Order: sequence, then structure tokens, then C-alpha cells
Amino acid sequence: MKRTSDRSFDNPTIDRRHFLNMALGACAMTPLVSFNMQLAASRNSSLTKEQRDSMTPLQVIDELKKGNERFRAGKMVPRDYLGEKRSSAAGQFPAAVVLGCLDSRVPGEIIFDAGIGDTFIGRVAGNVVNDDMLGSMEFACALEGAKVVLVLGHTACGAVKGAIDDVVLGNLTGLLARIKPAIAATKFDGERSSKNATYVNAVARTNVMLALAEIRRRSPILEELEQKGSIKITGAMYDLLIGSVEFLGS
Ligand SMILES: [Zn+2]
Repeated sequence: MKRTSDRSFDNPTIDRRHFLNMALGACAMTPLVSFNMQLAASRNSSLTKEQRDSMTPLQVIDELKKGNERFRAGKMVPRDYLGEKRSSAAGQFPAAVVLGCLDSRVPGEIIFDAGIGDTFIGRVAGNVVNDDMLGSMEFACALEGAKVVLVLGHTACGAVKGAIDDVVLGNLTGLLARIKPAIAATKFDGERSSKNATYVNAVARTNVMLALAEIRRRSPILEELEQKGSIKITGAMYDLLIGSVEFLGS
């Protein structure tokens, strides 16, 4: 996939310079990286290559955390989707790839307050790893330059409940089988039932951690990028009720 060097239209330079000047005036001691990350700024354009490439994987994770905090607090940045659409049409430079659940209540772009072109989002019930998701993550990182692979589980996950309940239904059966190792690996004192929310969330958490190991095991490409420090592979849990994302590490 060919990448264009930069935006060819809808140049946001003037707005950005204005923002930078404001940021510099407000806090001259702040390191450069903390105010040129456009995941966080008032937005009318998508991430540029320069902006994305200037971030380390840990800085990208930090931006995701800040974005989620804005969402949780109801202080999302004003966003011009049409401007973002125009600015990203000629090329995309997303900072992260998220493997999230199909669940309608866990839309990655919204809960991280990210815009069009900022993140790759792959969604499948139970945020399970499979060959196509691995290929998508390799595309995102090795070819497109994303810095973070985030496996995002969530509370009250229906797929996790289904795996616990041994649901059998067409192709879903095979998908749920990918979650079952997390059931076996979850140490839990108490009722091991899909009706026990604490247990369901514990399994979902294990499912995320096992997914991280599986990504490294099944994708030498991603593992090597992580070893080199080019990317970070990490996990998180989203709380449906509170709206917060808890980063679990790797
Ligand atoms: Zn789910």
C-alpha cells in the first residue's frame, strides 16, 4: 500500500501553529511532544506522518489514556469529522491498532476520543486473536507504522459469558473456543458462573493477557518490532459502566 508523504489539501498548518504558540505561551517548560500530539488537540485534521512518527509507543499509550479520560469526563474535544475526512483521504498515519470486542458499547474511536485516521480498530466478539486479525495488526504496524498494539477487553462481555456457558451456535462455537483457555487459566475463588459479574470480568481480563502472549507467539513480525522498541503490545479493560479504560500492561 503506497503511502503519500503528507496531506495534499486542507492544510492545517496555520491552526496548528496557532495552537503551538498558545501551548508554548502557556507552558514554556513543557516538552515538545506533549503538545504536538494531535490525538489530544482540538481537531480539524487527522494525524500527519510527522506527528505520528514523533511519538514513542509509550507516548501513544499516554495519548490513548488522555483521550479516554476526556471521554469518561464528558470533555471530548470538538471534532470536525469532515475536516478529518478531507485531511486523511490522501493517506493515513494512525498511531495505534486496537483489537477490541464486537460489543456495540465499546467503540474504540469514541472511548479514546480519537478521530478519523488516528487509530486502526479491529473488532471481533471477545477480542480474540485469529490469523486475519494478526495479519491486520502486522499491516498496521509493519507497513503503516502504528506504534501500539492494544488488546481491549471489557466488562460484562457477552462472548466471555457465552464461552463460560458453553454456548453452541453455528460458527460462534469455534469463536468461543478461542476464549475457553482464559476460563481454564483464571484463578477465582467463588462462583464460576456467567451470572457472577466479577468472575466474568476476571475471565475477560485473562483473555486479554492470553491474547498478548498469543500475538507475540504467532507473529514473529510484531514480536520483533516490539523487541526493537518500535512498537508496544499491551492490554486494557474497558468498564462499560464507568467509561474508563484500565491499562493492564503487557
Ligand atoms: Zn464483548
